[in-house]
Amino acid sequence: MENRQKAEAFASLGLNDVLLELLAKQGYKQPTPIQSKLIPILQKGESVTASAQTGSGKTLAYLLPALMQINPDASEIAHHYPRLFILSPTKELAQQIYEVSKPFAEVLGLRTVLLQGGGKRSDETRRLERGVDLVIATPQRALEHIEARHIDIRSIKHFVVDEADMMFDMGFVSYIEKILARMTGRAQKIIVSATITPRVVKLAKAYIKPIRQVELDPPGKIADTITQRLYPVLRSRKDALLSWLISANNYGRVLVFVRKKELADGVAESLREWGYKVGILHGERMHQERKKSLHAFRAGEIQILVATDIAARGLDIPELDVVINYDIPHVKHDFIHRVGRTGRAGREGVAITLVSPDEIEQLNDLHKLLGNRIEEVILPDFAPKEIKARGRLLPGNHIAPRRPKSKRGANKAGELRGKKRKTTKRDAWKRIDETKATSGSKKSSKRKSRK
Ligand code: ADP
Ligand code: MG
Repeated sequence: MENRQKAEAFASLGLNDVLLELLAKQGYKQPTPIQSKLIPILQKGESVTASAQTGSGKTLAYLLPALMQINPDASEIAHHYPRLFILSPTKELAQQIYEVSKPFAEVLGLRTVLLQGGGKRSDETRRLERGVDLVIATPQRALEHIEARHIDIRSIKHFVVDEADMMFDMGFVSYIEKILARMTGRAQKIIVSATITPRVVKLAKAYIKPIRQVELDPPGKIADTITQRLYPVLRSRKDALLSWLISANNYGRVLVFVRKKELADGVAESLREWGYKVGILHGERMHQERKKSLHAFRAGEIQILVATDIAARGLDIPELDVVINYDIPHVKHDFIHRVGRTGRAGREGVAITLVSPDEIEQLNDLHKLLGNRIEEVILPDFAPKEIKARGRLLPGNHIAPRRPKSKRGANKAGELRGKKRKTTKRDAWKRIDETKATSGSKKSSKRKSRK
């Protein structure tokens, strides 16, 4: 009874007693804003693209209303065939969604199965044959089972694509298109991410009619609970700075992101030499190794996990208070997801980014995406000389400087701003132009050398 009172706020969303009790038992008191907004819309069976910032509770927001609609109270289950189908771009996220979903499905008498490359396909087939209500899968494996007719696609009533924009980045879109093309028009389709990109909207509109766009936060908004800092450093000193930051700040659990697999191995190795317990997570490692590393990190058996961007999406790791970006990700949106591994569900988090002078262009692009600048911290022992002298990595104070059409325009803009503040804005513009000029000349010299 006490439990039920605790989850009362969820009751107003039309969830049944069994679910309310489990929510309370798991410690959920209030729905998050995206849950309050999305649950009633989805209960009506509408198809949506839904976006809300990282760590805002999107999983339960799509899971609970779908479960309510296939709730056996409403209709006796004669056969167990998959009615809720959830796709995740990575195995790790699929596993996590499976773990979140399973208890909720179980209290309703529904069965859940996880299909992910890495597991034995014949085991999965057997489980599908025994009867399931919920399937959580990675796209390729899902399509294999659908094509082999282990799953009757017409049985699917609710279809979720989580981290939809990453499906494009990983080249999974053709699988999803094939699945969407085979599904009935009546099935509810739910496309989710913290960063719904234009190509996701285009795909959704092509296959799903009508579709409603539910957007809770401005696209790409980073949670207010995350404090960001940026450290300028020479590339060759990044390992040393990384290790220094962890020890000087006495950080507990730390997730370090790097762009490339080989780099992940190298950075992990160097951290081990400094005496840290480190795990590695990237796409080239065996499924079992990936699983083991993440498990050890979640359990606190290792302090640091060095990962590529496959770990940037969706993962919810308890007590992860610090994310360190060893570099700026290749896919800009992944930055938002990387830092979103911390500061989840209202908790405080710190996100640190190491930037070397050769990454200035990427940093400019990133600031454009974020709409603001990350605070720079100059450490005398680590910042490159010229940056120490200048006092900052990026010249000027303005966000993502746009280059005026003409040189004259540039001066004008500089002078206008110069009136407001006494900094050397004109110099700043000049420096930007110089940077562009050098990169331009590099390109032209490359072109020449190719000839
Ligand atoms: P997202 O998919 O939006 O990134 P998740 O669904 O992974 O976020 O949820 C992030 C964290 O918030 C999880 O640890 C989850 O248990 C927690 N959470 C979800 N809903 C609530 C709620 N209503 N109240 C408190 N915590 C919640
Ligand atoms: Mg999620």
